[in-house]
Amino acid sequence: MKFNTRTIHAGQKPEETSGAVMPPVFFTSTYAQEAPNRHKGHEYARVTNPTRTALEHLLAGLEEATHAFAFASGCAAMDALLKMLRPGDHVIATNDLYGGSYRLFTQVFEPYGIRFSFVDMSSDENVRNAFTSRTRMLWIETPTNPLLNIVDISALAEIAAGHKAVTVVDNTFASPALQQPLLLGADAVVHSTTKYIGGHSDLIGGAVCTSHDEICDNLAFQTKTTGAIPGPMDCYLALRGVKTLALRVQRSCENARELANFLADHPDVGDVRYPGFTAHPGHHIASRQMNDFGGMVSFSLKKDDKQLAERFMSSTTIFTLAESLGGVESLVSHPASMTHASIPKKVREAAGLRDSLIRLSVGIEDADDLKADIEAALSKTLA
Ligand SMILES: *Cc1c(COP(=O)(O)O)cnc(C)c1O
Repeated sequence: MKFNTRTIHAGQKPEETSGAVMPPVFFTSTYAQEAPNRHKGHEYARVTNPTRTALEHLLAGLEEATHAFAFASGCAAMDALLKMLRPGDHVIATNDLYGGSYRLFTQVFEPYGIRFSFVDMSSDENVRNAFTSRTRMLWIETPTNPLLNIVDISALAEIAAGHKAVTVVDNTFASPALQQPLLLGADAVVHSTTKYIGGHSDLIGGAVCTSHDEICDNLAFQTKTTGAIPGPMDCYLALRGVKTLALRVQRSCENARELANFLADHPDVGDVRYPGFTAHPGHHIASRQMNDFGGMVSFSLKKDDKQLAERFMSSTTIFTLAESLGGVESLVSHPASMTHASIPKKVREAAGLRDSLIRLSVGIEDADDLKADIEAALSKTLA
């Protein structure tokens, strides 16, 4: 099946007793057994719930994985993957990454003795040089957040495999509609389903998709043992939302392309970061590993000033000033004080993230209205 069909049908079948085309929301904690350990495949809802199973089958289908594991949040999904590591193990991670990932790595796992190196992955050489005899995991985010740099997944996964390290890709920004890392050699994909997969800003959720036997066994054990699972209602919402993923992402990409060009041509706008520009240093790799360039655009004003940037973000009316991304509605955010505030200013600036950067998550509204909103906010800001 092709991708657009899989977003609707992968692993789905009508419910057995009624024929309902959508799985019921199974609000239950336990399941009746005929005799001890003789049951219909479900024992206790921390371990499995049919609504969650339906979502997991669909997500596995989207990433062409044998298995998917749904979690209560993207952070819980990352936490489960990192718990495969042991004290002394070393992880190489992208230097420009989601602030919550950085916080999880440095404030939860470093104190347990896991070591992290944050590396500019636009150069393969930097990554090659960061490996040690204890490196167990390569953690890639691409496009990176919020600078929208591009990392070559297949080249780096090959280097990692040579060191017997697993490659994990946080595919939240691209979504499986644009990029399928397992097909490029990654061992596991992590998602915040809160973003493009859910798509309607009405849930918090996460997932790991993988065909790697050891990771599958470990995650099955962990969902059962540590229990950071999503409830059935959130699974239902994710399942309902994901069915329009292909259409939503296509429209977001079209709108983002139009806005990126509009911003680049605007006399009051400075640097615009968008991997669809041929001058973007990662454009070539993005053209190869992605189906389109995504719905995210970051930029700064020509007058590169934090206060002016903040005034701009408070002046839009269609773009809502909010954290998060990947919903049907357009959002504007200030990474330095919002999503990335947990990264020290010095570390942020070393990675190129300045206090004046503005990040857009472009939704599926009419592009003309989005441009008019930005134009009006720029006039108001600079008046
Ligand atoms: C939001 C986000 C996360 C964390 O997911 P939650 O669902 O908010 O816990 C992880 N990675 C990226 C790239 C994100 O944007």
